[in-house]
Amino acid sequence: MQTHQYDVVIVGAGGAGMRAALESSGQVRTAVISKLYPTRSHTGAAQGGMCAALANVEEDNWEWHTFDTVKGGDYLVDQDAAEVMAKEAIEAVLDLERMGLPFNRTPEGKIDQRRFGGHTRNHGEAAVRRACYAADRTGHMILQTLYQNCIKQDVEFFNEFYVLDLIVDHDLSAGHVPDGETVNATGVVAYDLATGEIHIFQAKAIIFATGGAGKIFKTTSNAHTLTGDGMALAFRRGLPLEDMEFFQFHPTGLAGLGILLSEAARGEGGILRNGEGERFMERYAPTIKDLAPRDIVARSMANEVREGRGAGPNKDYVLLDLTHLEPAHIDAKLPDITEFARTYLGIEPYTEPIPVYPTAHYAMGGIPTNIVGEVLRNDTDIVNGLYAAGEVACVSVHGSNRLGTNSLLDINVFGKRAGRAAAAYAKTAEFRELPENAADRTIAQLEEMRERPDGERVSDVRTALQVTMDANAQVFRTHESLVQATDDIRALQARFKNVSVQDKGRMFNTDLLEALELGFLLDIAETVVLGALNRKESRGGHFREDFPDRDDANYMRHTMAYRRPLDGSEEATALAEASQGDITPENAFTHVSDFENYKVVLGSKPVVMTRYEPMERKY
Ligand SMILES: Cc1cc2nc3c(=O)[nH]c(=O)nc-3n(C[C@H](O)[C@H](O)[C@H](O)COP(=O)(O)OP(=O)(O)OC[C@H]3O[C@@H](n4cnc5c(N)ncnc54)[C@H](O)[C@@H]3O)c2cc1C
Repeated sequence: MQTHQYDVVIVGAGGAGMRAALESSGQVRTAVISKLYPTRSHTGAAQGGMCAALANVEEDNWEWHTFDTVKGGDYLVDQDAAEVMAKEAIEAVLDLERMGLPFNRTPEGKIDQRRFGGHTRNHGEAAVRRACYAADRTGHMILQTLYQNCIKQDVEFFNEFYVLDLIVDHDLSAGHVPDGETVNATGVVAYDLATGEIHIFQAKAIIFATGGAGKIFKTTSNAHTLTGDGMALAFRRGLPLEDMEFFQFHPTGLAGLGILLSEAARGEGGILRNGEGERFMERYAPTIKDLAPRDIVARSMANEVREGRGAGPNKDYVLLDLTHLEPAHIDAKLPDITEFARTYLGIEPYTEPIPVYPTAHYAMGGIPTNIVGEVLRNDTDIVNGLYAAGEVACVSVHGSNRLGTNSLLDINVFGKRAGRAAAAYAKTAEFRELPENAADRTIAQLEEMRERPDGERVSDVRTALQVTMDANAQVFRTHESLVQATDDIRALQARFKNVSVQDKGRMFNTDLLEALELGFLLDIAETVVLGALNRKESRGGHFREDFPDRDDANYMRHTMAYRRPLDGSEEATALAEASQGDITPENAFTHVSDFENYKVVLGSKPVVMTRYEPMERKY
C-alpha cells in the first residue's frame, strides 16, 4: 500500500475534472486521479456544442439563456445557479478559445453558433443560434484542449487508478453527526489497475468529477465506463443524492442501438417524421417544432410509436430526415454522426432518413452542491473539503430536464468554480489525520470478491438491471412499473452478494473492477426508482402516466435520497422530517425503503427562485 499527500485531489479527468485542475494546480499541489486515460473520458464523445449567449450571429443575451434553462428544466432549476452559468458561459467559451480550441467560425472569423433545442430568443419567440461548436466533435476538442493545457501546466495525473472509497471523519450512513460538529473529507482510497495495489490519497480538498451513470439503462448513449462511481461512493458514506429520478432520454439514438446522433442534426435543419412521413413535432410543439426540449421530443416520439404511427417493419422507431440538406452542408457540419448511421445501420443519410428512438443520455441529478461547488450533506450544511462538478453533481442548473449544450457549459463553469474554491480552501486548511484503517473496507471488499468461488456472473446481473430499467423506468413510468423495478433491483442486490469473478489475478483485473462498478450501478438505480415512485407528478424527464400533470403544490422541491442504518429508524424519520423546510407533514417526502442492512430515506430541499415564476411549459 502506498500513501500520497496532495493539497487538492481531483477524481475524474473529464471536462469538469481537468477544468478544475487548471484552476487549482497553478496554486496548490494538485493530483488528478482517473480510471480512464484522460482523453478517453466521455466528454470526448460530446458532439453538438456548448452554448453561450455570445450574440455572434444573432441578437442574444445571458438573461434569455437563464430563462430558457429554467423553463427547460420545468422550473425545478435553482435559478441562482442558472444565472451564474448563463453569465459565466461567455467567459467559459472565451477561456477555451484562448487555450486554443478550434471552434467553427463565421465568414468574419467570429466563433460560429447554431440552433439547439429549447434555446430561444426573447423568452420563447423563436429558436436562437447560441451553441458554439467544432463540427460534431465539440466534446473531443474540449477534452483535447483541456488535456494539452494540463500537460503544459504540469498537472500530475494518476491514470487507470480507480477511486473506490471516500474517507470522511463522520460516516453518515452509520449514524448522525453530533450537534455542533462538522463533517470533513480527508482523502480517497484508490486501486491501481496495472498492479492491483491500493493507494491512499490524503488531501485537504477533494473534487469529485466522475461523470454520469447511463449504464443503469440498456439503451444508452453513454460509454461503458459511466457507472455512477462518484455518486455511489458519496451515497455509501451517507451523503445525499439529489433529484435522481430525473434522467434524460435523448430523442435521437440510433434505433435499437442507442448510439447518439446529436441534436445538432435538427439544429442544422433535420426533421423528425413518423411512419406516415408526417412532421409530427408540429402537433406537439407548434412554435419550435423539432427543436423543442428533449423531454418533450422524446415523449412525442414514444407516443407516435405507441399510437401505431412508427416506422419500419415493426413500427417501433421514427425517422430523422436529413435528405433535404445539401450533402456538402452535412459533410461540413455533421460528419461524424452521419458516418455512424452508415457504419452501424448501413443507411446513407444523403438519401435515406435515419431510424431513431430515445436513448438514456444524462443524469440531471447527482451529488448536491451549492454554486461554489461545495458538497451539501443536507439542505444547508456542507462537507468541509469536499467539492463536486460536472455530471456527477447537481447544482441544480438542469432541474428536471437539461437543455442540449448546457452540460459542456456546466462542466466548464462549475469545474472552474470548484477548482478555485478547493484551492482557496486548501490554502487555509491543515491536513487532517486519516484513520489507521482507512483502506480496510476497500481491501476487504476486493479480497472477498476475488476469493468468492463460483457464483453469479457480473454480466448476467448487470443485464437484468438494464433490462428492468429500460422496461420500467424509461420515458413512460407508472406506479406498477416502478414497483416492479424496485422489486427487481432488490432481488439483484441480493444476487450481487453472490457474484464472483473469473480472473483472480492482481494485474489489469478489469473483471474485478466491473464487478465493483455493478455494485455502484445497483445503488444508483435504486435511488432513481425510489425517487420516481415517490414523485407522483410529471415534470421534465420524469413522466408518470398515472400522474400526467405537473403538481407544483406538492412537488416543487428537490428530492434528497439518504442512506441510513436500519436500526436508526427514528433518526431516519426525524431526518426526513427535518429536511422538509416549510412543507406540511401531509406533503412530506417520507418514503422509506428497507433493504437488508440499510434504508433509503427520501427528504426534500427547496427550489431556489429568483425572478421567474413557474408557468405552464409550452413551446
Ligand atoms: C454521446 C454523447 C454526446 C454528448 N453531447 C453533448 C453536447 O453536444 N453538448 C453538451 O453540452 N453535452 C453533451 N453530452 C453530455 C456531456 O458530454 C457530459 O455530461 C459531460 O461531458 C460530462 O463531463 P464530466 O467531466 O462530468 O464527466 P466525464 O467526461 O464522463 O468524465 C468522468 C471522469 O471520471 C473518471 N472516473 C469515473 N469514475 C471513477 C473512479 N471510480 N475512479 C477514478 N476516476 C473515475 C473517468 O475516468 C473520467 O475521467 C453528451 C454526452 C454523450 C454521452
